[in-house]
Amino acid sequence: MTVVKDTGARAILPPFGEEHEELRQTVSRFVSKEIAPHVDEWEAAREFPRELYSRCAELGFLGLKFPEELGGQGGTHLHDAVWVEELARSGGSGGVAAGLNAHTSIAMPPIFKFGTEEQKQRWLPAGIAGEKIGALGITEPGAGSDVASLTTTAKRHGDTYVVNGAKTFITNGVRADFLVCACKTSEEGGHGGISFLVLEREMPGYEVSRKLEKMGWHSSDTGEISFTDVEVPAENLLGEENGGFKLIMANFAWERLLMAIGAVGAMQRLIEVTVAYAGEREAFGRPIGKFQAIRHQVAEMATLAETSRALTYNGLRLFHEGQDCIQEVSMAKLLTQRALLEIADQSLQIHGGYGYMREYGIERAVRDARLGPIGGGTDEIMKEIIGKTMGL
Ligand SMILES: Cc1cc2nc3c(=O)[nH]c(=O)nc-3n(C[C@H](O)[C@H](O)[C@H](O)COP(=O)(O)OP(=O)(O)OC[C@H]3O[C@@H](n4cnc5c(N)ncnc54)[C@H](O)[C@@H]3O)c2cc1C
Repeated sequence: MTVVKDTGARAILPPFGEEHEELRQTVSRFVSKEIAPHVDEWEAAREFPRELYSRCAELGFLGLKFPEELGGQGGTHLHDAVWVEELARSGGSGGVAAGLNAHTSIAMPPIFKFGTEEQKQRWLPAGIAGEKIGALGITEPGAGSDVASLTTTAKRHGDTYVVNGAKTFITNGVRADFLVCACKTSEEGGHGGISFLVLEREMPGYEVSRKLEKMGWHSSDTGEISFTDVEVPAENLLGEENGGFKLIMANFAWERLLMAIGAVGAMQRLIEVTVAYAGEREAFGRPIGKFQAIRHQVAEMATLAETSRALTYNGLRLFHEGQDCIQEVSMAKLLTQRALLEIADQSLQIHGGYGYMREYGIERAVRDARLGPIGGGTDEIMKEIIGKTMGL
């Protein structure tokens, strides 16, 4: 699969079938034509245009896994996986992928999975149409990996929750119209005292306090948000009061799988670009790809990418079949994020000085890849989870 074939076609690999490969071609054409040529400009501007959401919506990409009655395409998670992988492969921008996917794959799913019919109708059709942008707010200045220790409070007064606190590192945090927000709804907080509320940016007391400057993902906005006595109607509660930890865990599985799938797409891109470069760039009178050292380096990169793909597709298959896959998904997240970083670094090395220059996009790949072992649950947390699933 990783081998760059003359035809450019890829074999059908389970769990994907023919219809998914057709979708892949469509996504590839769109991303290559309408996203990739603008990435440098959007990176420099530190955001991609908001209209990109509506353009993606117009083509059906924001609603692939959502039912038609909500404005979606009526597909499955596999369709979404194709979108995420191909966006990473053809787009070459972690930031664009993060901004689009945070909306479709981590902010809207909890509403779809845990929301009432009325709540789904309120936020999802507008989200799927790209008219309203969503974000997921879990991380706080004082609570990252230890999610249960979050301190943003939502105190109930009659039909209203009054929310106070702050969230940080929120993807789409600056432009989001709605925030699916984890709050402490009991004195003790912790696993049995967290709930999710949907906050809307026009609510008094909701303030985007800062747009953060980052090492990578430059074209996505990452924000810090503060809440001062924000009055949120009780009808914005998602799922059961104090049942939010279940929601966090349910969301993490898909988020981590998507990060693994995105990494698989990004690795594929880097290998394609590197093979092409090694075939063209000459040193000592021949293409550098003819040097054994470079050839072996590329072979190792391809082997690591293929291992990552196999592990990730296995997790995806189990997830799609509704099987317990926490161990496999955590392993896929752990392996792929480090693998992508390593492959990006090796690709940069093979590109020599040109790899270090902005215009080739390789240095961006290295910077973008560095977030993988941190975001969506760190490597250390993945190892904890995997160890615990083994009874340790
Ligand atoms: C660009 C970006 C986008 C993000 N987007 C979002 C978003 O949209 N929504 C959102 O809610 N969050 C988001 N995050 C937050 C992200 O999920 C957290 O950064 C991540 O969960 C880690 O939390 P932390 O940064 O507070 O690190 P900490 O939890 O403070 O960890 C610091 C270090 O300690 C280690 N550590 C912590 N606990 C243990 C332990 N038990 N055993 C061993 N080591 C441990 C960690 O692995 C890490 O190496 C984003 C982050 C970034 C950087």
